Amino acid sequence: MPTKIDKSILNNINKKNIINVIREHDVIYKAEIARMTDLSIPTVMKITDEFISNGLVQTVGKGESTGGKPPQLLQFVADARHIIGVDIGTTNISVLLINLAAQIKIKHTIPTDPSRDFAVIMTQVIEAVASILSQQTETEAENILGIGVGVAGLISSAEGKVLFSPDFGWRQQDIKKPLYDAFRLPVFVDNVTRAMAMGELWFGLGQDVNDFLCINLGYGIGAAIVIDNEVYSGRRGLSGEFGHMTMDKNGPKCDCGNYGCLEALSSANAMSKQARTAIQSGAHSTISLVVNGDLEKIDAKVIFECAQAGDALANNIVNQAIKYLGIAIASAVNFLDPQLIILEGGVSRAGEALQLPLTQEVERHVMPFREHSVNIMTSHLGSDAAAIGAAAFLLKNLVEHGGKIQLSE
Ligand SMILES: [Zn+2]
Repeated sequence: MPTKIDKSILNNINKKNIINVIREHDVIYKAEIARMTDLSIPTVMKITDEFISNGLVQTVGKGESTGGKPPQLLQFVADARHIIGVDIGTTNISVLLINLAAQIKIKHTIPTDPSRDFAVIMTQVIEAVASILSQQTETEAENILGIGVGVAGLISSAEGKVLFSPDFGWRQQDIKKPLYDAFRLPVFVDNVTRAMAMGELWFGLGQDVNDFLCINLGYGIGAAIVIDNEVYSGRRGLSGEFGHMTMDKNGPKCDCGNYGCLEALSSANAMSKQARTAIQSGAHSTISLVVNGDLEKIDAKVIFECAQAGDALANNIVNQAIKYLGIAIASAVNFLDPQLIILEGGVSRAGEALQLPLTQEVERHVMPFREHSVNIMTSHLGSDAAAIGAAAFLLKNLVEHGGKIQLSE
């Protein structure tokens, strides 16, 4: 006998499947939805009526009659609700207002205050959100589902807190409360790479893939694991600290306090540090020319560009970063057997200059019996991936609760 919990989980899965089929089609008949979801017509009718009553789905005229009453066509109303997505990055803070189809309506990107002081950064976030809300009419503001936030580090989503973020140097900082106090909107906070994975599941390369990994290559390195269409958070929500796997016990010190973490060897921050140290020790490189001698301006983009142009130092740095990254990803592939690896973050925008050698390096280290080569792709969501994904947490919550957000305050 199925328990009550089983029924509600099943009902949520049915709602999600139905809304996703409607979202993926311009217009669709209820009978088609039933066929595509393997659900009965009465179940489809009950759930679609619920979506129509809360405005997420509308009827748009009638199809051809085959004798009886002509069937109604249904359409997803992408503008029925809007969501605010926030990406608190170490370089930029990005705040978006998107509709339910991830179309960006308003976008604010501001440079992250270099102090990385928590209170200063929260003020920046609150000001950016307030600026977006000030552009909304009263009715539009009422249709905002809430605020989704992605931030690097160990995050307790249940509490809306950053437990520890090596990138920012934050410990035990509450993100949810100041945002809720300022706007009285539901707030959902999660790790930035899990937010990216959520964005891929709903709007990106993960839409037709059940099991995949997102590898976020930015200032730091993180990963998110998607198993059977769900982002895996771990027992306490601390999964995905891929960047802090020890790759070389004698390696450089990492921001987390350990030595030789992947992040201390292959991240944008690590590559920039390696270039600075080498140039300060007398290495000749076009990197110093490109940044006009201002070594603080060295970033992963400059290093990749110089490597492409044949600079020896840049090439060594890129090759070494890819080598460690390849070993780490191959280990993850051997361990989890994902269908797809999606590269995210600033470094991923090096495109083929990263993707091709990285795929070769991963192939070199995976178990040899695999029939298929490892599938590595670069996200199409670009620099908006984290903010869109953070907003998608609220969309998921909405769909799974039949058109009403249910988050604890
Ligand atoms: Zn570390």
